Amino acid sequence: MDEYFYSFSRYLKDKFGQKVRRISLDAGFDCPNIDGAISSQGCVFCNNKSFSHFSRKSPLSLEEQIIQAKEYIRRRFKANKFIAYFQSNSNTYGDLNFLKKQYDVVRKFDDIVGIAISTRPDCIDEEKLSLIEDFAKDYEVYIEYGLQTIHDKTLKLINRGHTFSDFQRAVELTSKRSNINIGVHVILGLPGEVKSGMLETAKILAKMPIWGVKFHALHVVRDTLLAGMHEQTKLNLLSLDEYVDILVSFLELLPKNQVILRLVSDAHQDLLIAPSWVNDKGRALKMIEDEFRKRQTCQGALPR
Ligand code: SF4
Repeated sequence: MDEYFYSFSRYLKDKFGQKVRRISLDAGFDCPNIDGAISSQGCVFCNNKSFSHFSRKSPLSLEEQIIQAKEYIRRRFKANKFIAYFQSNSNTYGDLNFLKKQYDVVRKFDDIVGIAISTRPDCIDEEKLSLIEDFAKDYEVYIEYGLQTIHDKTLKLINRGHTFSDFQRAVELTSKRSNINIGVHVILGLPGEVKSGMLETAKILAKMPIWGVKFHALHVVRDTLLAGMHEQTKLNLLSLDEYVDILVSFLELLPKNQVILRLVSDAHQDLLIAPSWVNDKGRALKMIEDEFRKRQTCQGALPR
């Protein structure tokens, strides 16, 4: 369905001329929204075990994680180039020496061509950006900021511990640096948000210097505040039909050159509570493609 939106895999193929896959890593970072610096409860939906194959505070060293993941990806996907994805927790949270030590591990591997760093928008400053910009001389570099929504009311409700203006500041600082691609994570179906509110997020992101957008459908996993909320009063989670409708409308509003890092997220089967459709990715992707075709539309089709 590449004709309907600008997929990350197409971007990578255009850029590197071959298959490149991400390796999700747990580099031992913490999160200020979990360790008590901001809050000790975390975002309501967050269970770090559901982030990556390598669980929080993996017993494997970073080198071991990379070696193991590369072997698996080579076998399964026949890819020979990799992007080190610092995924678990907030991967710019810590002192500069620790950040440098962790990022520097990728330099031991000739087949790593990129570094992706997932973090919170309130965990970045000029010093950290200088360190990351330095890597951009040798690597394709991405910083992915978790935003989820532009609406402060929702951010408060989901206990993000930052505001939209924190995100604006992070994007402004980052966009002044050379060769750092800015990605943003968005969740569709957050409590209290209706379609028009979610599309406001699209309209604002479309006007910012954002390189890529990664989508998640709000889903409930075990051992989270959201699981408790869901147990008390059944949350109004999006059905697959609703998700597809909102997602395609969102994409219509994004510029054609913004890279779509992911259309729909899944969850560990043993952690997922609801909705079950998020783990039927094949069906979700088919329905998204059908919706594009039915509407005769594509990413960037609507004026912003
Ligand atoms: S900022 Fe990220 S790691 Fe921290 S609690 Fe929220 S989702 Fe979890």
